[in-house]
Amino acid sequence: MNSHHIQVTVCTKTFANNILQIRQRVSPSQVCVVVKANAYGHGLTKLATTAVEAGANYLGICTNPEAKVIRDLGLQVKLLRLRMALPEELEESIDDLNIEEQIGTMESAVYLSQAGIKRGISIPVHLNIDLGMGRSGFFPNQIEQIEQVCTLPGIKIVGIMTHFPAADGQELNLTKQRLEKFEHLCELLANSLPEDILVHTHNSAATVRLTSKCNHLVRVGAACYGVRTSQAFANPAELKPVMSIKTRIAQVRQVPAGNTIGYDSLFTTKRDSLIASLPVGFGEGYPRSLFNKGIVLIHGHRCPVVGRVSLNITTVDVTDVPEEVKWGEEAVLVGCQAKEEITFEELADRFGSVHTEINLMAGFMNEISYI
Ligand SMILES: *Cc1c(COP(=O)(O)O)cnc(C)c1O
Repeated sequence: MNSHHIQVTVCTKTFANNILQIRQRVSPSQVCVVVKANAYGHGLTKLATTAVEAGANYLGICTNPEAKVIRDLGLQVKLLRLRMALPEELEESIDDLNIEEQIGTMESAVYLSQAGIKRGISIPVHLNIDLGMGRSGFFPNQIEQIEQVCTLPGIKIVGIMTHFPAADGQELNLTKQRLEKFEHLCELLANSLPEDILVHTHNSAATVRLTSKCNHLVRVGAACYGVRTSQAFANPAELKPVMSIKTRIAQVRQVPAGNTIGYDSLFTTKRDSLIASLPVGFGEGYPRSLFNKGIVLIHGHRCPVVGRVSLNITTVDVTDVPEEVKWGEEAVLVGCQAKEEITFEELADRFGSVHTEINLMAGFMNEISYI
């Protein structure tokens, strides 16, 4: 059955090309393409395969089911877990999924060490260093503990990493200082760490904005999907959005001045208006908080969302569109139409969120067409 009312389209070629652009940019560093959260809503199965074909050295995941999907596709690519694991997750992943884990406490290091000894193997792990994210990791002054971890049997340190909390902020000085501190720590630890260790710090924003002398691997999500996490910087023009969301006009109607529109009657027409109803709402992942803030492209014009976004209906003011607006015509929620474009970033800024939230909801709530 075709979905007539919404088309969420993901272009795998664009995704592959974004990865190639990033690979060229960071070469000879390796690239970990982040596919957690169902590939940021773009669909894990399809994009994991595309990422590997496009030369991803690692895929970044969070959960065991994600890793299982990737392994069931027959992909032997290296997997890096981007958060701390639960003990049960570790038991499963060591035996069946071959995920490289991060360790950021002595407790998790000892646990993995014992799990490795019990199985007679060395489990590959990445040392996580906390430079201000505050979620996990050893602090840079815990050198003795880190050195002790390096001597534990049953694990093999293959990487040392940190994650920047504000690489996408206006102000980059703090991130630069954190990078220097991290590089200094790696020098201090040089004698304890294996020579071929992978040093990695950069997410998308850092990859686009900062160079580093010691990064062997970048962990990129947003950039691969052609989006950026803040307005503070621009993505290079080669990185293009991978997803677009289109719908069609389910009704066009004259509404005289002085009529209210939508739940809670929060919008009143100030003039005789032409209102288009779109057959999508937050049930399709179009954020409810876009109430009186959203913009939709119709005939290549930017038309404002008026009134509350309902579960399955959104109302748009098309009074100012010079041509006749007709039942059944295309309306673009995110993407291009004629010379206009609405980006995920713009829409997210309009209701104070990040692009991922729209990508995620649209991807989870609708069937995706791949082109
Ligand atoms: C999600 C995640 C990334 C990717 O972040 P983007 O901003 O999407 O590039 C990188 N590193 C870690 C540890 C993450 O959790």
